[in-house]
Amino acid sequence: MNFDVARKKMVQEQIAQPVSGDRQPVTDRRVIDAMLKIPRHIFVQEAFALQAYNDTSLPIGEKQTISQPYIVALMTEMLALTGSEKVLEIGTGSGYQTAILAMLADRVCTAERIRPLALRARKCLDSLRLFNIMLRINDRDNSPVGWEEEAPFDAVIVTAGAPEVPQILTDQLAVGGRLVIPVGSESEQRLVKIVKTATGELETVLSIGCRFVPLIGRQGW
Ligand code: SAH
Repeated sequence: MNFDVARKKMVQEQIAQPVSGDRQPVTDRRVIDAMLKIPRHIFVQEAFALQAYNDTSLPIGEKQTISQPYIVALMTEMLALTGSEKVLEIGTGSGYQTAILAMLADRVCTAERIRPLALRARKCLDSLRLFNIMLRINDRDNSPVGWEEEAPFDAVIVTAGAPEVPQILTDQLAVGGRLVIPVGSESEQRLVKIVKTATGELETVLSIGCRFVPLIGRQGW
């Protein structure tokens, strides 16, 4: 299997010009270029490598999943990154979304609660020589989401489903900052984008429905 060819096809048919008619194309050129560059197959377990460019989420161990490529592209586009941002990601998982963010922003702070996943993600990210990433393991049961010491953030992305938008994350958003998070029940959510305006108000924009594994802990399930 030629992974480069498969990746091009993935970007074309699932993301830039989706074959599925009810899907909004992702048009941000920088997001598309990052999706073309980052090898998704190194972030999945070896047994799933041949499925890495399929239009689906996949298991990554520890009952967690790597998100569907389209959802990764869409959420990244919603963050409207230009290259100068400091980004916070909650839920490193495989590290695939982290790698895309690292290509598009100045710095990425990413937090994961399951140690073996975090360690594996770190290896993959290092192998791609992405060195603008700080990874933190939040494996205490009552760790708050967010990253007080590094706040404020220009962009925040949560890649696990939450019952509501955690206030700690909007508090850690810079003026003009964007937060993208799946909000809903444990079994299905909707992508929500929150923008902190110049006056400090929060504007909410709703996007498509999605299914993420649950955000665990004080602000989650
Ligand atoms: N973006 C990742 C998604 C992984 S699934 C990828 O594409 O691979 C979501 C991840 O969020 C899981 O690895 C889960 O362990 C993690 N998670 C859940 N609750 C968390 C919390 N409170 N803090 C940090 N990570 C959390």
